[in-house]
Formats: sequence, C-alpha cells, structure tokens
Amino acid sequence: MTGPSGAGRAGFLWLAAFLALSAVVLVVDALVGMPAPAPPPPARVVTIAGRATVAAAPAAPGSGLSRHEIAHMRYMREEEKLAHDVYQLLADHWGDPVFARIAQAEQRHTDAVLGLLVRYGVPDPAAGNRAGQFTDPGLAALYAELADKGRRSPADAWTVGGLIEEVDIADLENATASTTRPDIIHVYRTIHRGSRNHLRAFAGALARNGIPYRPQKLAAAEVQAIVASPMENGPPP
Ligand code: MN
Ligand code: MN
Repeated sequence: MTGPSGAGRAGFLWLAAFLALSAVVLVVDALVGMPAPAPPPPARVVTIAGRATVAAAPAAPGSGLSRHEIAHMRYMREEEKLAHDVYQLLADHWGDPVFARIAQAEQRHTDAVLGLLVRYGVPDPAAGNRAGQFTDPGLAALYAELADKGRRSPADAWTVGGLIEEVDIADLENATASTTRPDIIHVYRTIHRGSRNHLRAFAGALARNGIPYRPQKLAAAEVQAIVASPMENGPPP
C-alpha cells in the first residue's frame, strides 16, 4: 500500500536522484569547461646567418641561459671548430703557413666558446668529435663542401677562408645579439675581431696574387670596410 509516507519517500528519492544527477552534470560541465593542459612550447627556431636551425639543445638545469643563448653558444663552438678543421686541412694540403697560423687561432676560438659551455654547464656538441666531424648537420655538410673546394687551387683555398670568416662574422653578430651577459659578449667580440683579421689575411693573399676579393656573405660595404682597414691587435680570447 502507498500512504502519504510512501509518497513522501518516493518524492524524496526523486529529489535525491535529481540532485545527484545535477551534481554529475555540474562536474562534467566543469571538466569540459576546464582549459586543456598547455601543450609544450614549440621548438624555438634560431636563425643563424640566414639558415634556420632548431634550438634542439635543452636548457641545461641551473645554467640560467635561455634556449636562444644556448643554441648560439653550441653553434659557435662547432663553427669555430669548422674553421680550425678546414684551415688545418688546407695547411697540410698546400703547406701554406697562413692557414697553419690561422688554424691555431681558430683552436683558441673554439676553446674559448668551450670555456663558456663549461662555465654554464651546457653540453659540448663537439665532445668526442674528430676533425671534420660535427653534431650540427648543416656544419657537417659545409665542412665537406669547403674541404673539397679548398683543395682545388690556392685561390680557391683563400676564397674558402674568406667565406668562412664572413659567415663567422655574421653568426657572431647574431650570437652577440642573443645575450646580454658581459662574459659571453666579451668572448664573441674577441672572436669577431679575430675573424676580421683573418678576412684581411685571406683577402690580402688573394690581392697579392692579382685577385680582388669579392664579398660572399656579408654586405659589400661591411666587407670593404674590414678589408680596407688595418689589422687589429688585442688580447687573445
Ligand atoms: Mn674564429
Ligand atoms: Mn677566423
């Protein structure tokens, strides 16, 4: 039998069911309305002298450097090594003391950037790499191309040297712009001065052989200003 108390109980059950359902709807609604967890930020693309290089390096824990600073630093470490490896190869191939002397300077440059990597706890991309071996595939390809071209003739070798220095100058300018840290900027600027001197040396070698130096990467005015100005002295890096 259904008396007033039975009807009351049924009504209560309906009310409870309604409230429970409402609560479920509210929770589901809240979940649906919640913003999705933020996706990881896309890999930053760092432009280095007109080439796009993905900043693959993870920020080293505790380094305090941005991915941008790290990417440039790792790239410059290998780019200075490329200069060294190409010049050492051409010094051995042509027996040219200019290449031997500049190869020694490039060793100091790549060591100076390694010093920065160590200071900031950033993994060294050149660790364990032999001459002509590079972690960055673009630099590996560039090495192969320039090693090939530089062995064709002495003039080709000096032209290759000029190209390396122009690319280095452009990349160092980008690297310098990537940071505000005085110690890093100091190293980049010191290496930049070396590159200007090396560009003068290669353009001078070509000029002595009756070949005018033609700009290969930088604006003609920038190259002209460097080549026409005297060698710069200063403390080594
Ligand atoms: Mn250098
Ligand atoms: Mn150089």
